[in-house]
Amino acid sequence: MHTDPNCLFCKIVGGEIPSNKVYEDELCYAFYDIEPQAPVHFLVVPKEHICCAAKITADNSSIVAHCFEVIAKICAELGCESYRVVNNCGDQAGQTVKHLHFHVLSGRDMTWPPG
Ligand code: AMP
Ligand code: ZN
Repeated sequence: MHTDPNCLFCKIVGGEIPSNKVYEDELCYAFYDIEPQAPVHFLVVPKEHICCAAKITADNSSIVAHCFEVIAKICAELGCESYRVVNNCGDQAGQTVKHLHFHVLSGRDMTWPPG
């Protein structure tokens, strides 16, 4: 599995940097965001280093389906009936960590369109 030794989220997945873990399996890792934007705010990341959504291909897209299965399972366990899943891809969209991740936000009213 491809990982990047300089990547923050690869270091979190590997346990080199501590995190507040929500869930883990062989393919993905979920942990609470250090700067929560909602009463519930966690991130789901593939263990494999994929830098962003623009690099999802037929070869690795099954991990994305798996992440969404995991999101549904975690939200059910946390009692989050309504939630928003966000992926920022690229600098202009606000991606600051270049390792594919899905934000899961819940517990407050959300506005649309996003800013
Ligand atoms: P993005 O801006 O979409 O790339 O999201 C990166 C997210 O990672 C932000 O919401 C940060 O608050 C979060 N973050 C950065 N460092 C950490 C960390 N050490 N532990 C947990 N979340 C982090
Ligand atoms: Zn990484």
